[in-house]
Amino acid sequence: EPLRGPQDAAFDANARLFERAQRSIPGGVNSPVRAYRSVGGAPRFVQRASGPYVYDAEDREYVDLVASWGPALLGHGNPAVVDAVKRAADRGLSFGAPTEGEVELAELVRARVHRDGRSPIERLRLVSTGTEATMTAVRLARGATGRSLVVKFAGHYHGHSDGLLADAGSGLATFALPASAGVPAEIAAQTLVLPYNDEAALRLAFERHPGRIAAVITEAAAANMGVVAPDDGFNRTIVDVAHADGALVIMDEVLTGFRVHAGGWWALDPAGAVDVDLLTFGKVIGGGMPLAALGGRASVMDLLAPLGPVYQAGTLSGNPLAVAAGLATLRAADDGVYARVDAAADRVVAAVGSALSAAGVAHAISRAGNLFSVAFGLERAPRDYDEVRAQESWRHPAFFHAMLEQGVSLPPSVFEAWFLTAAHDDAALARVEEALPAAARAAAA
Ligand code: PLP
Repeated sequence: EPLRGPQDAAFDANARLFERAQRSIPGGVNSPVRAYRSVGGAPRFVQRASGPYVYDAEDREYVDLVASWGPALLGHGNPAVVDAVKRAADRGLSFGAPTEGEVELAELVRARVHRDGRSPIERLRLVSTGTEATMTAVRLARGATGRSLVVKFAGHYHGHSDGLLADAGSGLATFALPASAGVPAEIAAQTLVLPYNDEAALRLAFERHPGRIAAVITEAAAANMGVVAPDDGFNRTIVDVAHADGALVIMDEVLTGFRVHAGGWWALDPAGAVDVDLLTFGKVIGGGMPLAALGGRASVMDLLAPLGPVYQAGTLSGNPLAVAAGLATLRAADDGVYARVDAAADRVVAAVGSALSAAGVAHAISRAGNLFSVAFGLERAPRDYDEVRAQESWRHPAFFHAMLEQGVSLPPSVFEAWFLTAAHDDAALARVEEALPAAARAAAA
């Protein structure tokens, strides 16, 4: 039997683990994208990570451009964060009672999400996942307005709660269909799915359903269909159109919050600050631990239990280890950190562009701050989900595997952003640059 390389189950510890995992875990993974279904092959089982690197079950080292899908802003195993978690663990793992750390984190978030002398966050509630944050924000918007419908944009991801797992219906401003088995049609029909960056579609939705839309939820800058930044001023348009009808706006910063800027996309948006009612956070706010949050105007947030009639709770909400990781991460994430992440993104963007051009692969690189993604076969950066899907996504698996073989771990889907960290130093970035030409040639084939 000749060795068939790293995918050979008889030979590679990752493939052996994947086979074993599939006997006890659906698909072998606890979140679907990890299974490498869109690129093929066995996923790399990570045994440890440090700075910009992850190490697989064979102890092979990869420059990591996934960063746990966002949280690892400082790089893996940042000593300040790990120490904070260890010290918190020594004091106890979970109390189900309020702690001072939660107050500090709420105050820190309010101080950071700030622009032109104001903050959109007067109150903050901690939860454990981004899914919970957006689910609760939607419930809160419905409770505040007494309305049921929710507008979302095609290609935006807000976690896996029923109402937000909805696909565009048959026409503009019509009710959505379930995007997953198990979501009742009646629930999907409470959601309207609109094309992103389309002001006319947004206005039409409010014309068709006046007084019935509780909220528009939007990724602050879309980064779950690859990166698609809002057109200049589109977030402001959302707020103006929604507020004119008495609907609220939920800006989902689970991915962008504290990653693209100290104050998230809200503070970075070149079109200026907008008057959103609620914001959701996740990922970086927990520094790699299960922590997320929703925040916003006191008049809306104070409708949450125990003050108001909108129920929300969590055994592990504000978990002291997660809060310690979040506090340590945000305290360490100073201007220098963002400057390093931005510069690392600039460098990789430039290298990807020149490698693909040299290999003759048409492409567009779309960016939102330090987040970016590569769309193969497009002439210009896509503005909505239809344009995203028009790309030559079939080029991605070869590109991905060529990078992986050279020790660079990219997101295993073309519809995901690439994540840099402040730990991506010259050595790590040089390895990415060295790997790109061969991967670009693989993508050209
Ligand atoms: N909202 C956005 C914008 C996200 O990117 C994600 C996760 O990728 C979520 C919500 C859901 O967060 P979680 O995976 O923590 O439930």
